[in-house]
Amino acid sequence: MDTRDPLHDPLLAGDRRALARAITLVESTRADHRERAAALLDGLRGAGGEALRIGLSGTPGVGKSTFIEAFGLMLTGQGKRVAVLAVDPSSARTGGSILGDKTRMEQLSREPRAFIRPSPSASHLGGVARRTREAVALCEAAGFDVVLIETVGVGQSETLVAQISDLFVLLLAPAGGDELQGVKRGIMEIADLILVNKADGDLRATATRTVADYAGALRLLRKRPTDPEGFPKALPVSALESAGLARAWDEMRSLADWRRAEGHWDATRAGQAAHWFEEEVRAGLLARLDTPEARARMADLAREVATGTRAARAAATDMLQMLRGA
Ligand code: GDP
Repeated sequence: MDTRDPLHDPLLAGDRRALARAITLVESTRADHRERAAALLDGLRGAGGEALRIGLSGTPGVGKSTFIEAFGLMLTGQGKRVAVLAVDPSSARTGGSILGDKTRMEQLSREPRAFIRPSPSASHLGGVARRTREAVALCEAAGFDVVLIETVGVGQSETLVAQISDLFVLLLAPAGGDELQGVKRGIMEIADLILVNKADGDLRATATRTVADYAGALRLLRKRPTDPEGFPKALPVSALESAGLARAWDEMRSLADWRRAEGHWDATRAGQAAHWFEEEVRAGLLARLDTPEARARMADLAREVATGTRAARAAATDMLQMLRGA
């Protein structure tokens, strides 16, 4: 008997509607949907192709959507299939999304070789990232060559996106030396490529100086074993004028090729898979705390601990005992 999901074959054939429906299953909170999504993903393992997964971060207004539109159109123009996904920290709180607005990336969204998907709304950022990682796997099965994972630069989301990506690109605005200090060291440390956007018109000279500043700052960072000579790199681009994009793409490809040849690519992906496995287990355990019974018991025990009727450790043991049976 064929137990394959009806979405399996159309997905492998690259059908975008099947892909959209599969992602909806992945994002669903319904138990039957989740089960179906898990089986579908498991059945697709090893099938389809391998995309270049590019994480892209930058603060609001830096030009992410303008960049993705121009960069995506350049790639689709070369015959590549490009998927754009988002990890939006605000969607976890509001259900809104950085890619929810359909007017963003208008041209790219009309392109048959492109697929654009807003951020899932989940109850917390970790959940958004987990679901996005599964959406990336679905895009790969559907034969996309490049998957861009966009996030707003506000802290924790970049680290999560870096755990989904092969390459991490940071988009920055031309700025004075003082503002450079404001870029968190943690973000610089995970960036493979810093693109200083808006290197055009009046901002061109500032952008050139900013690139030099960042290049200097990058040289001060400890060299990572996963980088060839010269990386991480800083480059100027103008998303508005589509300038510097081909160079940026060349750099991304050469870095990816080097990592493949040196064995870092597979090792990184294996490490990421292990990381997300642990995250799934952790999330599953935490979900057990999120039932009415568990919440009520937690509240009772917390009261007993607060009033000194029970010791914290003994109360926790009680709670864990209850969860074990869940
Ligand atoms: P996002 O919030 O990061 O997605 O930024 P947007 O792509 O919406 O761009 C914010 C503003 O910056 C818009 O007014 C864009 O037209 C402008 N912008 C984006 N890229 C460039 C660029 O390369 N040069 C210039 N001069 N402006 C740009």
